[in-house]
Amino acid sequence: MPPTSLELSTLGHRIRHHRVSNGFTLDELGERVGIAGSQLSLIENGKREPKLSVLQGIAAATGVEVTELLSTEPPNRRAALEIELERAQSSSVFRQLGVAPVKVTKGMGDETIESILGLHRELQRREREAIATPEEARRANTELRLEMRTVDNYLPEIEKLAERQLKLAGHVSGALTHRSVSIMAQQLGFELLYVNDLPHSARSVTDIENGRIYLPPASIPGGHGLRSMALQAMAHRLLGHQRPTDYADFLRQRLEINYYAACCLMPETASVAFLQQAKKDRNLAVEDFRDAFGVTHEAAGMRMTNLLTHHLEIPLHFLRVDGSGAISRVYENDDLPVPMDVTGSVEGQIVCRKFLARSAFEETNRTTEHYQYTDTPAGTFWCSTQTGTTSAGEFSITVGVPFDDAKWFRGRETQKRVSSTCPDESCCRRTPVDVASRWAGKAWPSARVHMQMFSPLPRGAFPGVDDNEVYAFLDRHA
Ligand SMILES: [Zn+2]
Repeated sequence: MPPTSLELSTLGHRIRHHRVSNGFTLDELGERVGIAGSQLSLIENGKREPKLSVLQGIAAATGVEVTELLSTEPPNRRAALEIELERAQSSSVFRQLGVAPVKVTKGMGDETIESILGLHRELQRREREAIATPEEARRANTELRLEMRTVDNYLPEIEKLAERQLKLAGHVSGALTHRSVSIMAQQLGFELLYVNDLPHSARSVTDIENGRIYLPPASIPGGHGLRSMALQAMAHRLLGHQRPTDYADFLRQRLEINYYAACCLMPETASVAFLQQAKKDRNLAVEDFRDAFGVTHEAAGMRMTNLLTHHLEIPLHFLRVDGSGAISRVYENDDLPVPMDVTGSVEGQIVCRKFLARSAFEETNRTTEHYQYTDTPAGTFWCSTQTGTTSAGEFSITVGVPFDDAKWFRGRETQKRVSSTCPDESCCRRTPVDVASRWAGKAWPSARVHMQMFSPLPRGAFPGVDDNEVYAFLDRHA
């Protein structure tokens, strides 16, 4: 294989280093090895590959071994700076700028090169940080979701790892305590510290050198959020994560640390035993699973997507939908028709108005689960939905299964049954003619700007606003 220009450049720097330290001029050393000084200059500048006989001559004249000349290490600090600059200036991120590269001369000070290198390092850092356009992010997200679907959202290695770490920490059963999580951290050589001044963009920061994991103070004492964050920080270490190479890698790491935390909070063996008993009793319910392990409804619902198909042979769907009807989190392997954009992306899409995931927001009693059968073009599904509120607004958590599997769940006896023909426009997206004509030309709402990356603007009469909702609001208040 011919050497790359960078290898030739390093070789050239090493030859120059040994020539200069022996006090030879280009012509003097050239004469000793039988080539012109100008030829030697080209070699030193990495522009020409020396013949082996020339290399041997240079080695003999400067009193070193040929292997010493061929080492890939820069021979001194100046050469290291020059080589790094050459590398930076030949990178695609720099070349895309269309800026002329700096030509290094003998008279140029080290500080000048250092300063230019500082700019290059920052340019590269920023390039790495801007890891994805929204489009790339959507694509990577969709790919990962489809990949997880093929394995029924189940990752056996992480399940085993979590069970092993729990056992080491002496955890037997029931909810995982803060105390146990601290012990798990200690066994990895880390202390958990709760601080008020974490960077806004970080959920936790791990100080690898000093063995510390910094977490925010508990906002809700006893909530499982903190335990989960601590477990996620540990998971990065346990799973040997390196700096993500691209957005897909970043998403996969996120998925893995979430998965690990879920496995610790709801360990496989205990969870499967609990769920199997509930199935036997025909009394499966997200709320019971949630309460048995002291986690949120969302965490319990998501955990069911890991275990129900693999262990209980029940395909299912999970939806987290916000108050506007947009999907923020989704998993399905039961063929529930979920709305998607042309790229196959689901996050940010608006679900059918008739899905319980949306209509549950209108229920008056929202302290418990609601149940519903929904007829869709892909068959009939049963689901259970629980609503909640955060500072960011309302949300609903839905876990559902195909009709035939409803028999294992509490709430199967519900009489509520609706029909959804989405994505057919006439299902729930088109404004009824009488309502539209009643308000046409007599209303002007102002759009709330969606900051959510995945969220597309709803189509309709007003930019960025769902006209159906505007009309319904006006009707309510008329
Ligand atoms: Zn619909």
